[in-house]
Amino acid sequence: KIKVRFAPSPTGNLHVGGARTALFNWLYARKVGGKFVLRIEDTDTARSTRESEEKMKADLAWLGLNWDEGPDVGGPNGPYRQSERAEIYKSYVDKLVAAGHAYPCFCTDAELEAMKAEAEAKKLPPIYRGKWSSASKEEVEAEMAKGTPYCYRFRVPANKEIGINDIVRGQVTWNTDNLGDFVVLRSNGLPVYNFCVAIDDALMGISHVLRAEEHLPNTLRQLLVYEALGFTPPVFGHMSLILAPDKSKLSKRHGATSVGDFKQQGYLAPAMVNYLSLLGWNDGTEKEIYTVDELTQAFDLQRITKSAAVFDKVKLSWMNGQHLRALPEEELLSRIADALVAGGVLADASSAFAAAMASLVKGSVDMLGDAAAQVPALLGYPLAETVQSEEFKPIQEDNFLEVAAAVLAAHDSGDLAAAVAGGHDTFKKWINGVGKAQKRKGKRLFMPMRVALTGRMQGPDVGELLGALAQESGSDVVERSSL
Ligand code: GLU
Repeated sequence: KIKVRFAPSPTGNLHVGGARTALFNWLYARKVGGKFVLRIEDTDTARSTRESEEKMKADLAWLGLNWDEGPDVGGPNGPYRQSERAEIYKSYVDKLVAAGHAYPCFCTDAELEAMKAEAEAKKLPPIYRGKWSSASKEEVEAEMAKGTPYCYRFRVPANKEIGINDIVRGQVTWNTDNLGDFVVLRSNGLPVYNFCVAIDDALMGISHVLRAEEHLPNTLRQLLVYEALGFTPPVFGHMSLILAPDKSKLSKRHGATSVGDFKQQGYLAPAMVNYLSLLGWNDGTEKEIYTVDELTQAFDLQRITKSAAVFDKVKLSWMNGQHLRALPEEELLSRIADALVAGGVLADASSAFAAAMASLVKGSVDMLGDAAAQVPALLGYPLAETVQSEEFKPIQEDNFLEVAAAVLAAHDSGDLAAAVAGGHDTFKKWINGVGKAQKRKGKRLFMPMRVALTGRMQGPDVGELLGALAQESGSDVVERSSL
């Protein structure tokens, strides 16, 4: 039975690294028909907040990463917040103690410091070498009677090789001699993180632990807890870091790194999911654009890459454009029209003119938020500037005014309006008619006509542009003069 989990600590925002971890777990569960568990690791009570948990859940939901078990939805192995599992942890500490795998330790902070200094002086690793591990029952009882504060430590077996066959990293082996007897329950009664994770993964029946590489060193402690309690360890896969384009660790100074930021900047959730999926995974082909359904089919744990992934916002924006243009035409146009209104260039998103403008920019917009910036280049009429440019000279010398006069005449007679209203083919026919009368064709006909009609030497198809402009009614454009 395949069961995976995403186990965030609610101490801030959901960042791309965490979202990638959540996604890979989710994809694997969906691919094999397993279960995806959300577990909130809020044992760090000073830094964990409910607000952060709620925000993370909202971000996961936005990405479409729904959980089968977890807070809010419940499940057979709850509660799913570590802060609500104190009794469970305590009962397993008792089991460890009863079996001799853990013991109370009464060392004071000063004693621990002294031990550390001594180890350093002897060039030994600064690890706890179990002063209380061999204490007699009487010694322990005497300290307890005095009311000396104590924690519980795990008794690490000496000189033992323990390893995993990591899905991503291959064989990884540790020697227990490099690990001191670690705390499982603090003197204030709070359980220690690595202990909770092992207990939870075991009790929740997690079959595969897929998480960030930075957790690899934690695995040894977790394996020891598994072994002491007779649990079967899960399969582990530790995913490589996500780096910034400059190959340093991705951080705030590289700009937005949280899912919430990207959502706010207008990225589409399916584009975000697609992009995250390729941070350390590929299907072995050149394919880059995937729908979420395609990803759940193609995803394969064996193809998670060992090398670090690079987070490239330029690529993400490009991918967003691909997903944008893959939307059904009507939805695409209405989303762009909304963005044009939000961007302050159009007054009414539901007008025919808005749809026409959306259609003109759809091919070159990657981010909805950038759509508005393209409109001035379509609606302005910078004829005065154009005629002064170097590039215009040959057109002028080729009797630009002859063509412009023909356009003007057609405008006055209503022929131009009729040609535009008739659609693309009618408009083309009209242009050809003008060309015959003027004995011009090709660029010699189209360029001066484009300049006369749009004031520019570049731009979208003139017929399409005029068709759009013909839809314009007085109230459509917010402030023409400011464009
Ligand atoms: N709570 C840990 C984190 O936020 C996850 C640990 C794990 O996946 O085992 O990074």
